[in-house]
Amino acid sequence: MEKLMSLCKRRGFIYQSSEIYGGQSACWDFGPLGVEIKNNIKQLWWTAMVHENENIVGLDAAIIMHPRVWEASGHVEGFHDPMVDCKDCKRRFKADTIPQTINPRCPECGGVLTDIRQFNLMFKTNVGPVEDSASIAYLRPETAQGIYVNFLNVLNSSRQKIPFGIAQIGKAFRNEITPGNFIFRSREFEQMEMQFFVRPDEADSWMDHWRKQRFEFHNRLGIRPERIRWHEHGPDELAHYARTAFDIQYRFPFGWSELEGVHNRTDYDLKRHTEYSGKDMSYFDQETKERYIPYIIETSAGCDRTMLQVLVDAYEEEPGEKENRVVMRISPLIAPVKAAVFPLVRRDGMPERAQEIYQELKRYFTVFYDENGTIGRRYRRMDEAGTPYCITVDSQTALDDTVTVRDRDTMAQERVKTGDLKAMISKSMEEYRRPDTVDIFEDSYVE
Ligand code: ATP
Repeated sequence: MEKLMSLCKRRGFIYQSSEIYGGQSACWDFGPLGVEIKNNIKQLWWTAMVHENENIVGLDAAIIMHPRVWEASGHVEGFHDPMVDCKDCKRRFKADTIPQTINPRCPECGGVLTDIRQFNLMFKTNVGPVEDSASIAYLRPETAQGIYVNFLNVLNSSRQKIPFGIAQIGKAFRNEITPGNFIFRSREFEQMEMQFFVRPDEADSWMDHWRKQRFEFHNRLGIRPERIRWHEHGPDELAHYARTAFDIQYRFPFGWSELEGVHNRTDYDLKRHTEYSGKDMSYFDQETKERYIPYIIETSAGCDRTMLQVLVDAYEEEPGEKENRVVMRISPLIAPVKAAVFPLVRRDGMPERAQEIYQELKRYFTVFYDENGTIGRRYRRMDEAGTPYCITVDSQTALDDTVTVRDRDTMAQERVKTGDLKAMISKSMEEYRRPDTVDIFEDSYVE
C-alpha cells in the first residue's frame, strides 16, 4: 500500500488535502490523473444506470437538507459509533477496536481510557448568520435521503411508474473516528447510489436483478474476478430497516472490505418521511387500483473505494535489468490517458507529424504529447500513468504513414497506419482483457 500511495502522489493521482499546512486528516485531493479516473468511473456508472435503463432517472440533490430529514432517517438518533478517549494522549478510538479486558488501556500509550460514549458521525453546521439551535444543519452523511425526499417530485414530473429508480452521484460526509487505509475510509467522499422503488411482493426478484447488475459492473471495470466476492449480512449486522443486505467486497491489501451494498430497505424510508413530513408517500397503481408504500432496493457504491479498488488491482511491478518496471494495468475504458504520442527524436519533421496525430486523436480521447527524454523513459512514465498505448513517429512514418504502437501490458510493438489509430483505441476500450500476471499483493493479504 505504501508503494501505491507514493506512486499516487508522485504521478498526480491523489494528494493529501491541504498538505502545505500539514494536511487535513482523512480528506484527499484528486490530481490531474486521479480526477480523470474518477470522472471515468462516475461516467461509466451513470451510463450503466441512467442511460441504459429507461426506468431509471438521475438527480442531483443539495448537500445541505432540512434538519428534519435526518431525524426521519434515524441519523440524528442512531448514526453513532461507540468511542473511548485516552485521558493521557487524548487519542480517540472506536470502542470495538479496543481489546476487551477488565481494565482496558490505550493501545497507543497505555493510558487510562474514558467510559464508552456515543459519537454522532454527522458534521454539524449552522445555516444563516445566527448560530443557535434553530439554525443547525448537517452535511449529508449519505446521498440516499436526497432521493427519498424527492420521490413524489420525480414521480409527478417524470411520468415514471413503479418499478422505477432514481440515481445520484454526490459528496457525503462522515466524521469517522478511525479513518484510514488511504482513501478507503475518509471524512469527505463520493457515493454513487441508485434507489429502486418496487412493489413489496416483487422486492426479492428485483434484489436478485440488481445484485447481478452490480457485480457485472465491477467486471466491466476490468477487475480481477478472484478479488471480488459477495458478503451477506448476518442477523447481527443487518441495519434495523433492512430485510436482506449483501455487500460486494474487494480483497484489498488490508483484507476483504466493503465496496458497495445492495440492500432491501423495505418501506422504512418512505414510511418515515410520510410520518415526519406529513406528506403521503404512498403510490397508487392505476392498473391494479392498489395503493401501497413501495419497497426500496438500494445499490450504494463508494466512488473513492471503487477508485482505490481500480488502483490496487492495476498496480504491478515487473523485475527489470536495471530497475523494476512499475505498470498500472488500468482498463482502457477508465485509464486517465488513452494514448501518448511521441516523436522518436526532435528533428526531421517528426515533432510536427506527432503533433498532427496528437491534435487529431485529442478530438476523441484524452491523449498526451511528450518529446522529452529517451524513448524508454517516456514509456516508463506512461506505464506508471496506466496509459494503454504509446504511439511513436519515427523515420519510416514519412515514407508509409505508419507509426509504432507499443502496448503497455505486453510491451510488444507493431506498426499501425495513422488512419487506423482511432479505431484501434476505441476497440481496446470495448474489448480489453488484462493479461494473467503475478499477484504481488498475495503475501500481504490479511484474512
Ligand atoms: P463501512 O461499514 O465501511 O463504514 P457502511 O456500511 O457504513 O461502510 P454505507 O453507509 O452502506 O457504508 O455506504 C455505502 C458506501 O459508501 C460504502 O459501501 C462505501 O463504498 C462508501 N463509504 C461509506 N463510508 C465511507 C467513507 N468513510 N469513506 C469512503 N467511502 C465510504
